[in-house]
Formats: sequence, C-alpha cells, structure tokens
Amino acid sequence: MDGDGRCQGCGQDLGEEELILHEGERLCEECYFDRCHRIKVCDPWGERSKRVFREMAGLEGTEGLTEVQAKIYELIRSRDGASPEEIGREFGLSPAEVQNEFAILRHCQLVKGKRAEGKMLFVPW
Ligand SMILES: [Zn+2]
Repeated sequence: MDGDGRCQGCGQDLGEEELILHEGERLCEECYFDRCHRIKVCDPWGERSKRVFREMAGLEGTEGLTEVQAKIYELIRSRDGASPEEIGREFGLSPAEVQNEFAILRHCQLVKGKRAEGKMLFVPW
C-alpha cells in the first residue's frame, strides 16, 4: 500500500478508516478543520469577530445567527446529525459555503464534526 492511510495534509499515517474525504483529499481531522479554517479566513465576518460580537451582545444558542445558520442548526439537531452533502442539497449551498456556515456554528459551540464511516458528519455540540 503506498500511503493509502496517510493524510494528504500533514502526511500522518492514521489508517484509511480514520481519514475524512474532503474535496478529493484524504485528511485527518486536524487538517480537515484546518481546511475549513482557511476558507473561513476569507470570510469578512470571521469566526473571531462573530464570537466576540456574540459575547458582547450576550447572545446564546441560535441568537445572532443568520437565518441560514439557524436553519442548518435546526436541521442538524432535528436529525441528530447531517452530512455536509445533505446540508448543501437542502439549502442549495456549495461545499465551501457549507464549510463556512459550519465553521461559524462550530465556533459558537452549537455543532461539531464527527467521523462516521470515514466521512464527516455534523452533529449537535
Ligand atoms: Zn493531517
């Protein structure tokens, strides 16, 4: 086997079943979220300003989220987990847009990523 279980981000050898398939790349969890982070950096709103804003405004739960973010959160909660593909289909978002929304929800500690059968699943925090 030539590096089948290797993360294409950092080269760590984790074994195939531990890797997450993300836009054609096999990544460990860390690199997966690193990719999300890089997408998020391009987001003018950003994770940090979003959280600071929420803290300053004393917002909790889904308060202060955009309509789409709140709906994604509701979907994930009602189904007890949803894949990025499902969310993309449901809301007509591109994979990058799904990652962006997820990154914000994740940093608001509403949802988190979970590996299920080598794929990423978004589940309630
Ligand atoms: Zn990695």
